[in-house]
Amino acid sequence: MEMRVPMKVPEGAIDEQSSVALLIDDSPTMHKLLSLRLRSEGLEVLSALSGADGVREAQEKQPSVVLLDIDMPGMDGFEVLRLLKDDESTLHIPVIMLSGLFKAQDKVTAFDLGAVDFITKPFDVTELRVRVRSVLRINYLMRMLSQQANIDGLTGLYNRAHFNQRWAEAVAGVERHKRPLSLAMMDLDHFKSVNDTYGHPAGDSVIQGMAKIVRRECRETDIACRYGGEEFVLVMPETGPEDAAAVCERIRQAFGEVVWPKHPERSITCSMGIVGTDGAAVVEASDWLELADRNLYRAKKEGRNRVVTSSLEGGVKLAQAS
Ligand code: GH3
Ligand code: MG
Ligand code: MG
Repeated sequence: MEMRVPMKVPEGAIDEQSSVALLIDDSPTMHKLLSLRLRSEGLEVLSALSGADGVREAQEKQPSVVLLDIDMPGMDGFEVLRLLKDDESTLHIPVIMLSGLFKAQDKVTAFDLGAVDFITKPFDVTELRVRVRSVLRINYLMRMLSQQANIDGLTGLYNRAHFNQRWAEAVAGVERHKRPLSLAMMDLDHFKSVNDTYGHPAGDSVIQGMAKIVRRECRETDIACRYGGEEFVLVMPETGPEDAAAVCERIRQAFGEVVWPKHPERSITCSMGIVGTDGAAVVEASDWLELADRNLYRAKKEGRNRVVTSSLEGGVKLAQAS
């Protein structure tokens, strides 16, 4: 089995090729002109002829960039910009203002409200195209950077900082909606000896191999993280402890069966501790972790290469759980 891990960008993946521009302008001539020229750039162009339609389109279609006319009857461009920047779903979309009249104060107002660029009509279409490209490029790079800050470099899984954030949200969600949730902590067995015997790079390949299996076996909505060196955590929303145990059992088996290219004679195993609820439990985020860690410790003590699961049903308290 080849153990190369593709560097998958988890969630909200950015595809620079499929950019969509939304033009909000009351002049049909502008729409004709720009849609033709921007389409030839490989951009998909959406049109709105009024501010109100433009805001709705932006919310529904989530374009990569908005080109926004200032002078429109009814809701003008400034008001549209204000609404877009006040709404969490459209806040991140870069907006380029288009204006027929050049007034220095308009420019200041536009930038203050969060526009990224300002172009005065009549404009050179080539210049507009170049500016749109540059805005798209900067936005793409910024989103890449902010995603990478959450991603572990060796495995491409989420890192511990991201786990902490998502885990707190998941627990808060369970308390509010009484939905199932499970957490698994995983640790590779006798890993120090793998490093000592085959070297650190071989150890790294094993860690990558584990990440690949975890990602393959879990659901899209699960949150797979590298918690530390050879430790992983898997957050499984909408999953009670029994189903979580089944998922982890599959991971445990698959991992144990891998024939490692660098040391085919030696298989490696992992141990896991799971804690979960079918919806009724109310437990602090940090207590969940401690319970999962205790189960992991039990799995190690009972001989490793196993999964130990407990349920929080009935509001089981930390002190009674072991
Ligand atoms: P146990 O079954 O009890 O978990 O035994 P273990 O040897 O796995 O336990 P321990 O936690 O003592 O050892 C973990 C080892 O993992 C020690 C460390 O050298 C190694 N390790 C941690 N991070 C990395 C890494 O990024 N790459 C590699 N190759 N090894 C790592
Ligand atoms: Mg460890
Ligand atoms: Mg270990």
